[in-house]
Parts: sequence; C-alpha cells; structure tokens
Amino acid sequence: DSPTSEPLLAGLNPEQRAAVTLPAGHALILAGAGSGKTRVLTTRIAWLLQNGYATPGGILAVTFTNKAAREMLTRLSAMLPVNVRGMWIGTFHGLCNRMLRAHHKAAGLPQTFQILDTQDQLSAIKRLCKQHQIDEERYPPKQLQQFIAHCKEEGMRPRDVPQHDSVARKKVEVYQLYEDQCQREGVVDFGELLLRSYELLRDHDPIRAHYQRRFAYILVDEFQDTNRLQYAWLKQLAGDVVEGRLQTQGSVMAVGDDDQSIYAFRGARVGNMQDFVREFDVRQQIKLEENYRSYSNILDSANALIRHNSRRLGKELRTQQGPGEPVRVYEAASDLAEAQWLVDEIRQLVKDGMSRREIAALYRSNAQSRVIESALFNAGVPYRVYGGLRFFERAEVKHALAYLRLLENPHDDTSFLRVVNFPPRGIGARSIEQLQDAARSAGCSLHDAVAAVAGRAGTHLGAFVALVDVLREQTQGLNLRAIIERMLEASGLIEHYRSEKEGADRIENLEELVNAAESFVMQEGFGRDAVALPLDEQRAALRQSPASQGLNPEAPRLDLPLPAVDAAARPGAGAADVDLETGETLSPLAAFLTHAALEAGDNQAQAGQDAVQLMTVHASKGLEFDAVFLSGMEEGLFPHENALSSQDSLEEERRLMYVAITRARRRLYLSHAQTRLLHGQTRYNLRSRFFDELPEHALKWLTPRHPGLASFARTSGAAYAGASSATGQFGLKSESPANAPLPAQKTPPAHGLRVGTAVFHTKFGEGKVLALEGQGEDARAQVQFPRHGTKWLALAVAKLTVVE
Ligand code: ATP
Ligand code: MG
Repeated sequence: DSPTSEPLLAGLNPEQRAAVTLPAGHALILAGAGSGKTRVLTTRIAWLLQNGYATPGGILAVTFTNKAAREMLTRLSAMLPVNVRGMWIGTFHGLCNRMLRAHHKAAGLPQTFQILDTQDQLSAIKRLCKQHQIDEERYPPKQLQQFIAHCKEEGMRPRDVPQHDSVARKKVEVYQLYEDQCQREGVVDFGELLLRSYELLRDHDPIRAHYQRRFAYILVDEFQDTNRLQYAWLKQLAGDVVEGRLQTQGSVMAVGDDDQSIYAFRGARVGNMQDFVREFDVRQQIKLEENYRSYSNILDSANALIRHNSRRLGKELRTQQGPGEPVRVYEAASDLAEAQWLVDEIRQLVKDGMSRREIAALYRSNAQSRVIESALFNAGVPYRVYGGLRFFERAEVKHALAYLRLLENPHDDTSFLRVVNFPPRGIGARSIEQLQDAARSAGCSLHDAVAAVAGRAGTHLGAFVALVDVLREQTQGLNLRAIIERMLEASGLIEHYRSEKEGADRIENLEELVNAAESFVMQEGFGRDAVALPLDEQRAALRQSPASQGLNPEAPRLDLPLPAVDAAARPGAGAADVDLETGETLSPLAAFLTHAALEAGDNQAQAGQDAVQLMTVHASKGLEFDAVFLSGMEEGLFPHENALSSQDSLEEERRLMYVAITRARRRLYLSHAQTRLLHGQTRYNLRSRFFDELPEHALKWLTPRHPGLASFARTSGAAYAGASSATGQFGLKSESPANAPLPAQKTPPAHGLRVGTAVFHTKFGEGKVLALEGQGEDARAQVQFPRHGTKWLALAVAKLTVVE
C-alpha cells in the first residue's frame, strides 16, 4: 500500500480514529494484542504533525525496542513529507542517552561516556570484587549486579538504600564502590542511563523547564512494561508537582495492555497504569477491542486462556476475520521428535507458499533453541536465532568494540582489561594485578598506570598501550570504516582468528561489524564525506546549523508551523548527540559505539532475511507472523518451574503465553514432548496446564490427547518414568541426526516414582510428582506440595513415600 496518498485516518475504526484525533490532554489507550495500539500511536504522531499541532521537535515517543523506533520513523516518513530524522523517538535508554549527552556537564559525565552492557557490567563488578576482596561465595557477582540494577530501578543511590544488617551494608558498600569505579572510568550501565537522566531533570530546573516546554506531546508504547523509574522520568518531563498535585504542560498518551505485562521480573509495574490515570487525572480512556491480526480460533484461545488470570483490567478481543484454521496441538515422544515434526510442518508451509520470515518458532527459554536449530540445520532450512547472544554481544565483536572504545577513551578499564592480552601478547595475570595495584595507589586509570610498572611486565604493558595510542593517532580524521579496518589489522585480531581453527566465522562477524558501521553511518546521515571531515570542521558545521540552535535552551524555541519546523529534525542534528551548551557532538566512532551498546540491550529480533525466525516469547513482543510454533509446552518449562510457587508469577507466565498466542495471524501450533534433554539432563515432563485452559472448539489434536495436569488426582502415570539408558543416549544428541530414535526401553527406575505419583514428605506433607531427573544417587524429583509450593528434592536424601 502507499500510505503517502492515503489520508491518515482512512482505514481506521471509530475508536482508533478517536484515539488518533484526541484533543490535547492526557489519555490512556488500553487495548488487547493486535488491536492496532502501535498503529494508533504512529498515526497520531503523523496527524499531530500534519495538522500543525506539533512540530517534529515537540514530540517525544517511547518505543519498546530500537527496532520499533526505527520502524516508527520509517512509517512516519512514508506518511508525511517531513524529515523525521532527529526526532525524539526511541527507547527509554536511547532517549536518556541522548539527553545525557546533551547535558553531560550538568549530569556530571564526560560527553564521550561509554555504555556498559549487561556483560560488561558483570565483569566490572567481578573486577571490583577481586580488588576489594569481597567474598564471591557470600556475595555472588551476579546477585550484586541484580541488586544494583534493582536499586537503580527504584531510583535509589547507595545512601538511599536501607541497611538493616551486615549483608545489606556490604552490598551497599559494593554499590558505592561500583559507582565510584564507573564514574572514574567514564562509563554508565543501562540502569544508570535512566537514573542519571531522571536526576538531571529533577535537579536542574532550567533543563526540566526546557524539556517540559519543548515536548508538547509525549507518547509511550507498551506502557504496561514500564518500571517505577521510567514512570518517574516521564512525570518529570510532563510537569511539576505543585501542592501535591501534578501540574502538567504537555499531553501524555500511554498505550498498553495489562495482559501483556511480562517484565515484572525486571521491575516492570502494571500499577503504573492506575497511577497514571490517577496522578495525571486522565480524562480520556479509550479501549480498542477489534483485533486485526488473527483469526478467531487463535483469538478465542488467547481470550479463554487469559480469563484464568485474576487481576485484570478486563477487556475482550474480537475479530471479523472468521474462525480460520484450528490451533494445532502435537505431542511428541521427545524433544528431538518434536523438532523434527516442526521442521516437517515448516517445510510444508513453505511449499504451500508461505515465506520463511513469516514463520516463527517461539520458546520459553533460550536453552530450548538448540534442538530446533539442529533440526532446521540438518534439513537445510534457513533460520535465524534472536536473543541469546546477539551480534554485538559475541566475543569477537566485543573484543573489536573494546579496541574501538579504547581509541575513544583510553581510561575505559573494562575495555582495557578485555583486550590487554587479547590476542595473547604475553601479559599474564600477575602483570595485570601489578598494574591494578599501581592504578589503585595512584588513583588513575590502568592506561595511565602502565609507566609505573617495572620490568618485563612493564615492557609488555607499555607495548600494548603504545599500540593503542599510535592507532589513535593514525586513525584521526579517517572515516568510520577505515578506522575499524585499521584497528582490526593493527590489533592483531584478524590475524589471530585466521590462525584459529574455528576462526572463519569470527572473521566473518568482524567483517559484519564493518558493514554494521557502514549502515549506521548511512542511517544517521553522517554521510561519507561528512565523516571524512576533520572533527573541528564537523563541529563548526554543526554550530552553524539551525538545528543546534533549536536545541539550545537559551535560544528562542522553534515552535513554528509546518513545514519550517523540521529544522529541529535536520539530518545529523538530533541524530548525532549534541552538547546543548557547546554544540559539541560525538564523533561517528563514539556515536557508533553508543549505538552498539544500546542495540546489545535490545531484547528483540533485528533484520528480517528470508529465514525462519527463532526467538523467545519475550523477544516476540509487539511482532506478528503468519505462522507461529510454540514448542516445549510442558509443566516446568512453560509455565516455568520457577514460577510455579506463587500466584503472581504463574499469572505472569500466563500473560507470556497470551503474548505468544497473539503473535500468530493464520496458524498456531502448540507442541510438547514427553522427554526432553535440558541442561544435560533428561526430564520427563507433563503437558502444560495451559492446554486445559484453551477452548476445545478451537483446537485440533494431531496426536491423541492424554490426561494432563488437571487430571492428576485421577490418574497417576500420565507421563513416563525414568529410562536408565536415556541420558547416555541423549547425551550424544548434538552429533546424532535430529530424528534419532527414542530410547526403546522404559524400565521403571529404582525409586519407583513416576510423574503424577502422589507422595508424602515428612516436612512438606502430601504432594504430586511433577517431573523426574537424573538417576541413582543423582535422581531428583520435582514435587508440588499444596501448602509449600513446588520443590526439587534429591531422592537419595528426601524421604518420600508413595501414597496409595
Ligand atoms: P501488540 O499488542 O501485539 O503490540 P498492537 O495493538 O500494537 O499489538 P498493531 O501491531 O498496531 O497492534 O496492529 C496489529 C495489526 O493489525 C497490524 O498488522 C496492523 O497494521 C493491523 N491493523 C491495525 N489497525 C487496523 C485497521 N483499522 N485496519 C486494518 N488493519 C489494522
Ligand atoms: Mg504494539
């Protein structure tokens, strides 16, 4: 379709139209999956611009991923003859990053601050624990990382954290040390981006006033998954609290679906929706109930499932599309057989004309992808995996990025440590310890401490520092592509991987990094020539551009009618991050490094080549596909075993399932396997309880339906008991073809338990066996106790008796 010629509102239903054309004022659009929320949000922006209610610079829109932001920009520029480049459309992280760059002095950061992704953050914490002799057994770095992230999400600095006991005190001490370290090195983590930006607004009246005046319209997609801090940040932008009441200037439109809130484990808070309505005194609430994505068998399934949740704001979805095909349910003997079935079905769909990129294989946990991948691989079906290790998180790419970061900022100790001995150049752990000691006592970065290290260690370290410093000199004024290519050679990375047996893939990824940089440069409008300009000239050019004046808080606000206003959105203006005081902007290299770090934080799929799309359910949010396969629908997997113990987490699993179902346009396949090898152990799982919550009329059972969890009480042997030979045979699975035979034998194990067996435990009382794992001494059972929740028990230790 060609939206340019199409009037904006044509094709929208009355509720959607009402939402798009709401007058100024706050609004909440609460609507189910596929009802056009994202479409409404995009169209509203276009409508505001087209009618002169807003200028491109006057709009701030928050999307859930960077990809969604790019899509929104693309759609907008297709709808309107307006230059959308530089508009404030992005993720919370992306927008906060931009704000911090613009006001880095006020925020207390160097303009070229680097962003630590989750991996970098963990290694920074580990390093800190070593240095300060923190007992890693008592305070596992991963837990400390979560603690710090949690504090930041709650808006707490170390001094704000309650310290009721010695453990809490220690954690807070680490938090403080970590903050000091980040500050010294000029790095910020994801949580810090938000918190720092929030504090910037909170503590600087002129800056807050500037943005409050500037952003007349704020729009937020996926509002149900915002956390406390994100909401507080939005409030700062919207207005000030005067005498206990929020006095706002602009209009905030929040769009969301309480049934799709799936990030509570990361601090998301559905309660923000109710708070929003109350605190913003929202007068306009619109529900969208027409689903444009799926046929009714799929939709009925989603509706019936989510009805089992208790705390809902309440809404139903309907479609005019008719029933479509039934939801297909398949039971496989093993995870291998399940994967093989999935591949066969996919091939058939492709044969029938469906394009591969319209087919998604979803799973609850990343670990489940391997079996599916190997089946697809063996069958020669192109596929692409999202989530897990994304491009910018791969080791070789991170190594390359670390060199690039050192070119930007020699004091980035995390990057320094990552590559000081990679490729290996004879710098051992001892030398590095020596260097760290020297840096600590001098209170300087590792880079600056090198001169203080004597002897052979000092010589090697000196050579490394010289390598990087010389490279920095040599790459001055080069364009991004040339910088990266020069770095790849000079660092020895390419040569190193060339000599490695499995290195070809890695070299390919490094070449891909060059491509990524290239397309980043194109997208951001630096243009090749602009990049080749010396930095000073780039800055001068920027200072002269009307764009930078539009961003200057001192300059008169550019609030002109269209089309003159798109000055604020001129190429390179907002795209490059600009210091609002000096007009200083990041180098293309620094901008690219920021981009890489932010992308690494995205939990979602990237480009769509014609390949089957593999991803977790979490990563599929907001997306849609013609056919969706959801495999591993088993108790313990989905719902996840960690979620079985509380009502809240079980409801979150159900919402996750709701998200999965509602990704499908035409076909939905749900499958489960009787046995599965996971984390090196064969597990015998029951069919997911969620099957019992789906409407029978919408389903088609491709395999006979066995009793599920709901019929526990009546039958005891729903699934299979442990086969003694299973693990050995499954252990070789990765080498064996995808359709390897199942272990033929199913001899009952010595402990005599089967899935579904009713057991008695001296402490926990009566319960049911949900799953069995391992054999002999290592045998474990997952048992659900009515009063104590679900527990894994080592059978050699726990004294379970079978209840007749
Ligand atoms: P989710 O909750 O999954 O994020 P959503 O509510 O954001 O879904 P959209 O992705 O905006 O829904 O829309 C779902 C699909 O329906 C899209 O393909 C969209 O183009 C289409 N759609 C939305 N509104 C209409 C309409 N009025 N007429 C035809 N198609 C529509
Ligand atoms: Mg959406």
